Amino acid sequence: MPTSAPAPCHGPCNTAWRRAEHRRTATGTDHDIPVTWGTPIHCADCVDRTGDYLADLPHLLDLVALEALDGQRGVPSASTHGAPTDTTPWPGQAARLLIDHIAGGLAETAATVRALHHHRDQPLRRPGIREAEWIRESVNTLFHAVDWLLQEHPLATESHEPLRRAHSVVHSGNPAAQVAHWHTAATRFTRRDRAPETKRLAPCARCGGPWLTECRDLHLIGDEPYIECQNPECQTLYRPDEYRRHVKDLVATTRLKHREDSR
Ligand SMILES: [Zn+2]
Ligand SMILES: [Zn+2]
Repeated sequence: MPTSAPAPCHGPCNTAWRRAEHRRTATGTDHDIPVTWGTPIHCADCVDRTGDYLADLPHLLDLVALEALDGQRGVPSASTHGAPTDTTPWPGQAARLLIDHIAGGLAETAATVRALHHHRDQPLRRPGIREAEWIRESVNTLFHAVDWLLQEHPLATESHEPLRRAHSVVHSGNPAAQVAHWHTAATRFTRRDRAPETKRLAPCARCGGPWLTECRDLHLIGDEPYIECQNPECQTLYRPDEYRRHVKDLVATTRLKHREDSR
């Protein structure tokens, strides 16, 4: 029988198992966390979850688009706190960048599905098509090919973990991980001011935007998380100590400015 042995699902269902396996290899500590097998690459739950995320995306992006139109969100604390930046964000910019990032990613992935799975050629964006319709078309293509995406796409076997490279995060090319990343980014964005428990973070040192969040995807240093800029064009990553130094500098600059202003 030429069938290969089943492999563990590449999805987040096995995150705890992978950590435990890693620890076992490194330290010899045994564990009893069960593994979820892929059928063949991802398990049925991971396929279903990706389908659910895709189905949510058009509505989530509509909500983000409202922010872009209102232009309320983009008014950053950066300008009011005098962050050192030469790219002053304009109202609604954060929302606009996020939509461009996700809509572009959806379209590119949908084009891969059409080319490799349907053997059909079509431009990335049909001329004259409105953005909301374009997003729905891409999502529709992906939703109906979700099994292929997670089991047969050339990058379906790539790790879901983002890579930390110098000062940025490189997200996985695995379609399942990409869809999860877009869904998280859009959800975080639409809920941002409805979550008073979220810590207020300083504006990003590089892009000046109000985009910093505590990063849950990477390892902690001690108990402290990395801080990541959610601006898809920036993606700067701060170690906890780097972030603290950045805040210190900001406070110092703001104080100095204050003193100069009151002279
Ligand atoms: Zn799974
Ligand atoms: Zn940034």
